[in-house]
Amino acid sequence: MSRHVVVIGAGVVGAASAIEALQDGHRVTLVDPAEPGGEAAASYGNAGWLSSHSVLPPTEPGLWKKVPRFLLNPLGPLTIRWAYLPRAAPWLLRYLAAGWTTARVETTARALRALLEDAPRLHQALAEKAGVTQLIERRGVLHIYPSRANFEAEANAWRIRRMMGVQWEELNADALHQREPDLHARYQFGIAVDEAGSCRDPGAYVAALVAHAQARGAQLVRDQANGFRIEGGRLKAVTTGGGDIPCDAAVIAAGVRSKLLAARAGDRVPLGAERGYHAVIDQPEAGPRTAMMASDCKAVATPTSTGLRIAGQVEIAAVDAAPNWRRAEILRDHLLSLFPRLPRDIPAHRLRYWMGCRPSMPDGLPCIGYANASRDIIHAFGHGHIGLGGAARTARVVAQLLSDRAPEIPLGPYAPGRFA
Ligand SMILES: Cc1cc2nc3c(=O)[nH]c(=O)nc-3n(C[C@H](O)[C@H](O)[C@H](O)COP(=O)(O)OP(=O)(O)OC[C@H]3O[C@@H](n4cnc5c(N)ncnc54)[C@H](O)[C@@H]3O)c2cc1C
Repeated sequence: MSRHVVVIGAGVVGAASAIEALQDGHRVTLVDPAEPGGEAAASYGNAGWLSSHSVLPPTEPGLWKKVPRFLLNPLGPLTIRWAYLPRAAPWLLRYLAAGWTTARVETTARALRALLEDAPRLHQALAEKAGVTQLIERRGVLHIYPSRANFEAEANAWRIRRMMGVQWEELNADALHQREPDLHARYQFGIAVDEAGSCRDPGAYVAALVAHAQARGAQLVRDQANGFRIEGGRLKAVTTGGGDIPCDAAVIAAGVRSKLLAARAGDRVPLGAERGYHAVIDQPEAGPRTAMMASDCKAVATPTSTGLRIAGQVEIAAVDAAPNWRRAEILRDHLLSLFPRLPRDIPAHRLRYWMGCRPSMPDGLPCIGYANASRDIIHAFGHGHIGLGGAARTARVVAQLLSDRAPEIPLGPYAPGRFA
């Protein structure tokens, strides 16, 4: 059954969903007011990790004890705009609750593993279709620690990863520095996760996916979707600023802006923003050979085709609040400290900063499934920290739901109504 599907949002989730829907023989219209692959989307500025092993929710048992220390540290990885706290409080409480017990974390890990397993291979297949295989690296990723004891302090997280089938190699100081000669000597221990991968330019990747969808017949409409026309439980049109787009089905993939659209499709979802930042150094004198997460600064350094990127930070603030570029400068300083051969006085024209919003559900799991108001509308948003990696399988599942086929992974954990 071929349908006319309107995909709302051309970030990585929407772009990949468009390709999978076309593959299934549907007609596709992509709607987005912004340039696909551009800076407005979280998909542009992320760390580029395709981390099939990122199965833990952002919170963990006992995290609440560390929160005051994080918040009091002006250089720390977590910050809250205090004026926003009353609005964020219900979301924050659920966020902390999601990691309250090890049992809860294990349940989430099982669901995330199903979504993320094979992410690098699935992305490579998408990149092949779009003719940009050079953007997907399948060389693994590293976690680096000052000492083995720091790694052991995360033993519970790694135990859960092992339970989920993740394997890794331990690197002593020699092995680590042989692989990463530019890395600061204070890092004495590493973990190499070979099954993971990375993207060399997430913005260019999304732009290429959208261009490929267009080459296969998808129409791109530069407009903002604002709701649905539903009659007798069947979707008749997606409404936009420029008028109605008649269609048989729709996919909500508008990232952090999906909440209102989801409500208009009958689902009240506690979608929030975990704002993050990146800093990029153009033509770096030194840097990592492999994308790496530094455990002490909770940031990821990734070699990209547009420079050396470091991404991270969680800032709880309104989606539209002005960026606090101090957070990006903190990341830049981490980069300088990770790689001592980088000059201390990098001129401003070689530095770029960016802020974007992770579309985050408080339990660390996206919403994927049919909407309450009509099975013609499919939710595909809320991927938080793992949306780049998770987009490829999400898109396959979206196509399966559009074609009324059984989804390839159980969708219970992602039910949009789970907080109702
Ligand atoms: C600092 C940082 C680092 C990250 N690192 C990683 C990482 O290493 N690996 C990983 O897997 N994930 C990472 N993420 C998360 C990842 O970037 C996101 O989860 C993912 O990009 C979300 O994709 P999306 O398509 O759902 O949303 P987006 O990329 O935000 O795209 C949503 C699109 O919808 C459009 N839109 C909004 N409203 C409307 C509307 N009403 N009508 C039509 N269109 C609309 C927007 O213009 C936008 O183009 C990181 C995020 C941040 C901020």
